[in-house]
Amino acid sequence: SSDEESGEEYLFKIVIIGDSAVGKSNLLSRYARNEFNMHSKATIGVEFQTQVMEIDNKEVKAQIWDTAGQERFRAVTSAYYRGAVGALIVYDISRRSTFDSIARWLDELKMLAFGFTGTSSPANQFWNHVQLLQSHSDTTVAMMLVGNKCDLENIRAVSVEEGTTLAEAEGLFFMETSALDSTNVKKAFEIVIREIYNNVS
Ligand code: GDP
Ligand code: MG
Repeated sequence: SSDEESGEEYLFKIVIIGDSAVGKSNLLSRYARNEFNMHSKATIGVEFQTQVMEIDNKEVKAQIWDTAGQERFRAVTSAYYRGAVGALIVYDISRRSTFDSIARWLDELKMLAFGFTGTSSPANQFWNHVQLLQSHSDTTVAMMLVGNKCDLENIRAVSVEEGTTLAEAEGLFFMETSALDSTNVKKAFEIVIREIYNNVS
């Protein structure tokens, strides 16, 4: 393949965060396996899926992490965020409380992923999954605000404009998605992956 010829390969860690039941696991399963589960239940522990994309004839691997149910206990640990260079911050457009939580998730993300963790300590280097990015002290994290369940238009509780406004204020990409009917799911992940690629290449 062209990747073998160029010898270039990228591995990006991306995390999905947001309140319980906003559809994080289904967004990931829709993107990675084109699967949706109406009765998905929380999994124990952290899980990730790896998706491969080709950009500029280079193999770009996205290692996408799912909180797997820990979010309800406020127990997402710093190890989950460590080394992340992309994030999807998800709310449910039919539940306002999940939109109100976004500020708190952003704080936590900024703090634990690229804030005050002292990224040069040996412990953190050990945990850093994105070796290629370790030398970039000014690493930008690509962040996308995701308003999921846009198929539930009839019980919408957060307007598109509110999502757009928050995203602009926080410097995030924004997209409404539906893991149920597939709207914008691939697009949301691919925008984040391309942005990370642009940040490092
Ligand atoms: P998580 O806790 O954030 O991982 O959320 P899940 O992916 O487990 O989804 C929680 C519930 O919302 C499940 O019953 C899903 O079937 C449902 N769900 C997830 N995404 C969508 C969506 O886009 N539209 C609708 N209508 N339901 C969804
Ligand atoms: Mg889940």
